[in-house]
Amino acid sequence: MPRKRIYQVAREFNLSSEALLEMLRGMDHTVKSHMSAIDDETVEALTQKLREEKEEVKKEVARKKRIIEESRAEKKKAEQKKTGQKKVAEPPRKVGLRRRVPDQKTVKETVKKVVAGLDGGKRARKKKRRLRPEEEVVEVDTKTLRITEFISVSELAAAMSSKPADVIACCLRMGVMTTVNQRLDADTIGAIADEFGFTVDFVKEYGSELVEQEGSPAELRHAVVTIMGHVDHGKTSLLDYIRRSNVVAGESGGITQHIGAYEVETEGGRITFLDTPGHEAFTAMRARGAQATDIVVLVVAADDRVMPQTIEAIDHAKAAGVPIIVAINKIDLPDANIDKLKQDLASHGLNPDDWGGQTLMVPVSAKKGDGVDHLLEVILLQAEDLSLDAPKEGRASGVVIESRVEQGRGIVVTILVEKGKLVLGDPFVAGIRSGKIRAMFNERRRNIDLVGPASPAEILGCQGVPQAGDSFMVTRDEREAREVALKRQMLQREKDLRRGGHISLQDLYSRIQAGEVKELKVIAKGDVDGSVEALADVLEGLGTEEVSIRIIHKGVGPVNETDVLLAAASDGIVIAFHVGVLPKGKELSKREKVDVRSYNVIYEVSKDIQAAMEGLLGPIIEEKVLGSAEVRKVFSVSRVGTIAGSFVTGGSIVRNASARLVREGETVFEGKINSLKRFKDDVKEVSQGYECGIGLENFSDFQDGDVLEVFVLEEVQRS
Ligand code: GDP
Repeated sequence: MPRKRIYQVAREFNLSSEALLEMLRGMDHTVKSHMSAIDDETVEALTQKLREEKEEVKKEVARKKRIIEESRAEKKKAEQKKTGQKKVAEPPRKVGLRRRVPDQKTVKETVKKVVAGLDGGKRARKKKRRLRPEEEVVEVDTKTLRITEFISVSELAAAMSSKPADVIACCLRMGVMTTVNQRLDADTIGAIADEFGFTVDFVKEYGSELVEQEGSPAELRHAVVTIMGHVDHGKTSLLDYIRRSNVVAGESGGITQHIGAYEVETEGGRITFLDTPGHEAFTAMRARGAQATDIVVLVVAADDRVMPQTIEAIDHAKAAGVPIIVAINKIDLPDANIDKLKQDLASHGLNPDDWGGQTLMVPVSAKKGDGVDHLLEVILLQAEDLSLDAPKEGRASGVVIESRVEQGRGIVVTILVEKGKLVLGDPFVAGIRSGKIRAMFNERRRNIDLVGPASPAEILGCQGVPQAGDSFMVTRDEREAREVALKRQMLQREKDLRRGGHISLQDLYSRIQAGEVKELKVIAKGDVDGSVEALADVLEGLGTEEVSIRIIHKGVGPVNETDVLLAAASDGIVIAFHVGVLPKGKELSKREKVDVRSYNVIYEVSKDIQAAMEGLLGPIIEEKVLGSAEVRKVFSVSRVGTIAGSFVTGGSIVRNASARLVREGETVFEGKINSLKRFKDDVKEVSQGYECGIGLENFSDFQDGDVLEVFVLEEVQRS
């Protein structure tokens, strides 16, 4: 087998090559660079070390948590004494308390050792020295972060007025690998905050107290199961098999499309399956809504071994405190080796029950169906063991599984009801959106008018698209729903503003004036080496006394995710010269609010940067979508040219606006709408649901089925 190079292994571990090199050196391996090759044994040793470190960190976190809780309790006691109040002590938060708190001294020592091994110990200790002395003096409570659980690295950094890069570095020192967007669990947040000299007070989402508490007494309910595992180990195949074998006769054609959640009726009872794409989604769901899953089914292929995503899934499930059932898949293959895989799993903390361990493992073939019935039985048994319950009456609450806009149906939201009874016509809040249930469907698109706990449904009637993982709750009336949604939108905007901390050319001047910026960091991307060098030279030459310009990375090729991440982590901007921005990079830059600018002429670059430094940069131009139309029939009209007989599918079509012609997903042409007709008449605007004739300037090659996206460019003033 070919040996792997360090950068490849680093990618698998979701670590930077530098961190991995550092680790290897710490383990007395002589390695030169990220291109050096390492053997399987070393990879195994690395895996083992990372695991150990994670464990240690978890223990350390538990210790810190306990100390914080103890000091809180003491403080409370003291306060109570002072005020003479006899308040009932609040029960401690559940998070993290499941773990046994180990002997303090040993943990402290091992953690010290591990951290020291990670980066020579210097940085970590230096940091501590820097933070501790003043911390000891400052009253803890003056530096309390009021945040929600599972916020992302960048959000946490913003809340502490620190850089995401520092938070990432801090995580790395603790053996936790993260990226800017990764969400952190309560324990990790607590530990990081502590390192930065903060204590954390976890707050709940606005309005969550409105979720009906009394309702009816809890009754037994069925289980909600999420399937996870490494790519290609057979998650989709397994879900498909279960789905196919459980569709009611005559309805087999009913569910071919992807759906985020569905219920199957087995002989032993009902099970709801969540089909969350990727483990990130699972965490995001934990992050925003309540914990939606009762059981995780981990799919591992018997002809393979425990892979990085398998480990990730194990970690996610463990962090969520959800029991794992392993489905050992592909047992029909000749090179399937169940025992070897079990050994591998055991070395990752999942001990097979038939070896005296705790984890139920079921060999299956998602292809042939062998063992699937047994797997379902085991799931039901596990569910019974958990004795899951929820009130079946009262106003419903739950979580958004996914949402999308569908042609002809509008906004479709898949939700999972966690408690109560959801009824047609109920007013609700989903994340920052409100609405009223207009229609509900099951996974076979059949109309339903009632949904109970642990069951999913597709609902229509939401005023806007909520996000997967958002909480869902029925309110007393529509007014309350609207109010909660509005308030949440306001809070969201405030939060966005606060975290919009990344530098942009737009606010460079004010930040220079405020003394916040002395150096503009730039990531320069270009089409060829020569142009990147030229760009870098010009940029560096633009520095002034007040602000210098530093190129922190330059490279050839389109702007990708890594460029944007780097810019986000170091509070810089990205300049793309003669190259585009890859979709993922674009998406990330929007989310992270990183300023990415594209240019084709060097002169324009220097003009903009100079203007920005002097506070003279013009407003940003943004595209505002007006509507869309589908071409149904193409006509040739004498003297006018070719006209696209179209149907307006959304918004409205406006004469003189710009239009983009999209054919099979690709933009074919972009230009001005120079003629717009209803029957024979020229009109200014045609709205959704009407037919019209559209002509584009300098374009005649319309085809049936083309889509026209109509937009105008608007100046957006800096807020
Ligand atoms: P996912 O990426 O985990 O969703 O994996 P898929 O369900 O897409 O499966 C990956 C590949 O493995 C596909 O080519 C499947 O046909 C194949 N596969 C899945 N389950 C089995 C199985 O039980 N036996 C065999 N022989 N192949 C399987």
